[in-house]
Amino acid sequence: MIKLWKGVCIHHSESQRFTTAEEIDQWHRERTKPFRCIGYHFCVRQPTDRSKPEVIDCAKFGRTLNDSGAHARGHNSTHIGICLIGNFNKRPPTDDMLTVTAELIRNLFECGCLVAYSDGPVVQGHRDLNDTDCPGKQFDLERLRRLV
Ligand SMILES: [Zn+2]
Repeated sequence: MIKLWKGVCIHHSESQRFTTAEEIDQWHRERTKPFRCIGYHFCVRQPTDRSKPEVIDCAKFGRTLNDSGAHARGHNSTHIGICLIGNFNKRPPTDDMLTVTAELIRNLFECGCLVAYSDGPVVQGHRDLNDTDCPGKQFDLERLRRLV
């Protein structure tokens, strides 16, 4: 049976924008307390302003939508982890990156694995759930919610 999720949790990689999902997968497997693979379910990557943002499905590393995540303490079995690659303390994500992320979230609704409950927004920032500034001080979560 397909696993049902009540929301998504948005992160940034807090790294340079050229970082790849493969590198994040490696970081997560080499932690002091290692994850078995990358902790997020999806990454969104746009190495330059002119490149087209790509969505990376982390199922290819072993993190499918039937697996709990490893990205937000206390919310890993309820929230799909989406990491936008970059550091949004320094500057905000591009419009294209937000658009692609909103499309991804709409697709998750359409596939039936993301179910809206009445308790709180479906799109959560990591900072809404845990004590962190992730996905970055310049990340406007309200804007993303409006796009979904
Ligand atoms: Zn985070």
